Amino acid sequence: MPNRHVYYFGNGYADGNREDKSLLGGKGANLAEMTRIGVPVPQGFTITTEVCRNYLRDKRYPEGFVVQVADAVRRIEADSGKQFGGAGNPLLVSVRSGAAVSMPGMMETILNLGLNDETAAALAQASNDPRFAYDSYRRFVQMYGDVVLGVHARIFEDRLTALKKSRGVSEDTQLSADDLRALVDEFKELVRVHSGERFPEDPEEQLWGAIEAVFRSWNVDRAIAYRRLHGIPDYLGTAVSVVAMVYGNMGDDSGTGVAFSRHPSTGDRKFFGEFLVNAQGEDVVAGIRTPLSISEMAHKLPAAYTQLLEVQANLETHFRDMQDMEFTVESGRLYLLQTRTGKRTAQAAVKIAVDMVAEKLISEAEAVQRVDPKQLDQLLHPRLDPHAVVEVLCQGLPASPGAASGIVVFDPNVAAARGDAGESVILVREETSPDDFHGMVAARAFVTARGGMTSHAAVVARGMGKCCVVGATELLFEDDCCHSNGFTVREGDWITVDGTSGRVLLGNVPTVESEVGDDFRQIMVWADSMRTLKVRANADTPADARKAREFGAEGIGLCRTEHMFFEADRIQAMREMILAGSADARHDAIMKLLPMQRADFEGIFREMDGLPVTVRLLDPPLHEFLPRTLEEIEHFATKAHVPPAIVQRLVEKHRESNPMLGHRGVRLSISYPEIPEMQTRAIFEAAVAVHREGVVVLPEIMIPLVADDKEFQIQHEVITRIADEVLATAGVSIPYLVGTMIELPRAALMAADIAGHAQFFSFGTNDLTQTTFGISRDDASTFLPRYIEQGIFEEDPFQVLDREGVGQLVQMATWEGRQRRRDLKVGICGEHGGEPRSIRFFHETGLDYVSCSPFRVPIARLSAAHAALLSGATVRNVADMRSQRAESQGAAKTLRPIKA
Ligand code: ADP
Ligand code: MG
Ligand code: MG
Repeated sequence: MPNRHVYYFGNGYADGNREDKSLLGGKGANLAEMTRIGVPVPQGFTITTEVCRNYLRDKRYPEGFVVQVADAVRRIEADSGKQFGGAGNPLLVSVRSGAAVSMPGMMETILNLGLNDETAAALAQASNDPRFAYDSYRRFVQMYGDVVLGVHARIFEDRLTALKKSRGVSEDTQLSADDLRALVDEFKELVRVHSGERFPEDPEEQLWGAIEAVFRSWNVDRAIAYRRLHGIPDYLGTAVSVVAMVYGNMGDDSGTGVAFSRHPSTGDRKFFGEFLVNAQGEDVVAGIRTPLSISEMAHKLPAAYTQLLEVQANLETHFRDMQDMEFTVESGRLYLLQTRTGKRTAQAAVKIAVDMVAEKLISEAEAVQRVDPKQLDQLLHPRLDPHAVVEVLCQGLPASPGAASGIVVFDPNVAAARGDAGESVILVREETSPDDFHGMVAARAFVTARGGMTSHAAVVARGMGKCCVVGATELLFEDDCCHSNGFTVREGDWITVDGTSGRVLLGNVPTVESEVGDDFRQIMVWADSMRTLKVRANADTPADARKAREFGAEGIGLCRTEHMFFEADRIQAMREMILAGSADARHDAIMKLLPMQRADFEGIFREMDGLPVTVRLLDPPLHEFLPRTLEEIEHFATKAHVPPAIVQRLVEKHRESNPMLGHRGVRLSISYPEIPEMQTRAIFEAAVAVHREGVVVLPEIMIPLVADDKEFQIQHEVITRIADEVLATAGVSIPYLVGTMIELPRAALMAADIAGHAQFFSFGTNDLTQTTFGISRDDASTFLPRYIEQGIFEEDPFQVLDREGVGQLVQMATWEGRQRRRDLKVGICGEHGGEPRSIRFFHETGLDYVSCSPFRVPIARLSAAHAALLSGATVRNVADMRSQRAESQGAAKTLRPIKA
């Protein structure tokens, strides 16, 4: 017996069922399931995705397949009492695409297949409605001509428009049967002229042409683009469902529509949908006529409506999730043509999940799994009023979601001044750098013309929870204004940034606040009870720390101290320190910073009462602190009472050709031990002060950019010496840890050694990714997109952790580190700490915590719960991981799309 390539469904029987999604596609599996449970569905059969994969690879059909299709067609005929190609009661079919993962509207479907001059005449007679028959016929020729024979749909539409014009009518429905019959002939002629082929009259030939075309539609550009965007693998292939046509266009007791068992944007438990009387499938979606609300159906098609209400309730209970359904009513009889899990907004997802637990439809764990962590962004940031009318200034990349309005400012100093004065400011720049930080702090949102999703502006925005659009390449800057899309904006003009869609809009478009309701809180309570991975936040200020706590952070995993140095009065002292000629002068300069640093830490410790705070010692390259412009140099020189020429020379001296790999991190602290001494003192004096207020302080001091255990030991000595001295002087005991970031491949390789002294590791996966790949994140935007397009990298490794490479280092270092020190605490604090798939990996690797920006904390908590629910086991070792990986990739490699 040859393999089964074709799965039949009809009259209450089906070969397949809902479990067969990967083989029959979501559409095919659910058509089978609906048939089984007694929902009215027209007869049909589904060709497996396997046949598609074979066809795309070998351009051949498997053995036995052609016969199986023919048998299935005979069976539809028997079950429906119609004949395919028959002149009495002709059977027409739709040939529909449908992948395992829903890709709505991305591939092709052909309706009314089986029509030719003979069957069209028969259909006209059987329905007693020639207009309907020839309307179906011309639709079919158009769809087939477009999808199968490659004649552009517009060519047909132009001809249709011309015909309507010559008849003086505006609607298709106003054309007569004779007009339409003539149009069919014209369409066929168009097909002949533009494709060089005659239109096939033989239904069998039509069917095979359509099947092949649907297979090929797996690889049309928009389908490929959709898969890229949603991370759907290219090798899956599509199934093809061939379904007996039912006619919603047979008069006023017929119609077609789309319905949801609950409201897809609010989540309310209310049947929702739209329908059209006397129309065929596509019409509702295509917007040819304005559809009616589903409640109207109660009056127009009462019997079918009552039945539909019952069916939708049954389907929801059966599938235990909100359903999105397509239906058609033919002469008063209801048919379901599709059901699937309905797409929904974040708000609806949360509400439906919680409601369904209360209705005892799903478990708490399922409810948690029903909410997509990535969607939470939508919930937590203010968003544009969906009803607002907008004018687009430019389109860029949606770097950080949410919406904000404000006045355009091009200069960070102006942004800082006007922002501090209480104005709503949007910083618009070619690109941003750490120098712009003060302006960014004061701005509500950023727009840049250059840069990608991981550019400076994007990273800072996500970190601050501000919305941001980057890479808006159409923006052209001039001295005091910028142009785009025919508009010119100047400083002070209002714009609105939509970081969710990547659009920048003119004017002050109203926004609506995000609502974090009880349902959301409930989901998070469940999620927290299910996860094992802890979630901390990256926070540099007391305000960030408070936000982090509000969002449920269980500590600070990364408190960057360099931001504390950039403020105006501090940078002067910092610059004096760097440019000082002697150790004494350096000491004097840096000690000016001590009281300020201490105050910073006090504020953070107070906010994080009872929770651990990981403070990273100074990390960035020195030159970032130096004055750059002539103006800055002069300003500094005057204040420091040094001739500008000398400052200039010193600045030159500190210039590095590769600062990212230069004098930074622990290397700075080795050159200038005054820095870690001052920082440690500040941390512990602050700890003592708040301890006396009754605050529980748990400091963890982290040394950045360590490559060797000796570096660590030297710093460890400095830190413990100062810390113990401060604590002893104060006469208090505060437990603390000293650990390191693992952000260089060598540190990962030397993990066992380093763990000999370090009490914790925190993977700095941003730098670890840069250094492992040897790719500078700031420069990657020029080539990385091409790498992803060509499939060299499946994903941007700065967004989704590279499991195979960087991940291997993470696993190895964790493993070796813990071999050396049983209770080694291990966490991660890169951007990946807030990314769901990376979090899954960190869970599987057995890390103790992830740390991410405060706004991503809920996303991380939910992702950690998903990870725990999905993968009981953690990956044991690198070899396991590699073999798993190879298995899942093997399929992909052999199934590269064949260009048709
Ligand atoms: P998509 O995946 O784009 O929704 P479908 O295969 O579901 O494509 O079909 C497109 C439209 O045609 C839908 O509105 C569907 O309900 C309708 N349709 C498909 N098959 C039939 C059929 N056999 N009879 C009537 N309408 C159909
Ligand atoms: Mg559909
Ligand atoms: Mg780093």
